[in-house]
Amino acid sequence: MFHYVEPPHSYVRTTSTSVVHHADYLVRREGHALCGATLEDAATLAEPGSADTICPDCDEKLVLYHLEWWREQALAATAELEALRAKHPETEVPVQQVDATPEPEPEPEPTTLLDHARRELVKLCREFDDAVPYFRLKNTMQAFSDGLESDERVLLAQQIGGDGTLIRWSTIEVVALGRQVSNSPVQGDSEATWDAWVQDPYPPPKKPKRRFGRS
Ligand SMILES: [Zn+2]
Repeated sequence: MFHYVEPPHSYVRTTSTSVVHHADYLVRREGHALCGATLEDAATLAEPGSADTICPDCDEKLVLYHLEWWREQALAATAELEALRAKHPETEVPVQQVDATPEPEPEPEPTTLLDHARRELVKLCREFDDAVPYFRLKNTMQAFSDGLESDERVLLAQQIGGDGTLIRWSTIEVVALGRQVSNSPVQGDSEATWDAWVQDPYPPPKKPKRRFGRS
């Protein structure tokens, strides 16, 4: 289905140093590296040279790019599948046939905290046809957050990126899963509204504002 099965990489280097940075995959700013470094007269490389050192800050952020990349692949694949199903309803497997299979494949175990959070959201969304009540979303995410150690909460906020707010991230995810959030005290995606909202029980540690991916 896809030409590439791994997230593509490209590298940038300035002439003055042997440190090679990853390209700014997440924000795609001109003259910037993934780690946020500003690069003057940077040359783009397909592969780093054997004597080059990869910037450790870029390396650390690579996982965020990979998460975002795989998520986009998954969303694209899901959308394509939905479109195909809508076009060819006759190829739907009858329910009885599914029931007759001996052992259903177990769902893959989530590996990251975000995967775990997303699995909770998918479960929640299955209960509703189009709108998830805000209080259910909040309770679900609060229960999830309550189950984490404090260092895991910090890690989760880092994985979320942007302002690291779990409830805001969940709202975006719910919309990506094809549902709306009803009766939310916050409407729209205005930065000012979200900033003014102080009900998030687990504010993440203050970090410089930087949004990954969807911006
Ligand atoms: Zn870097």
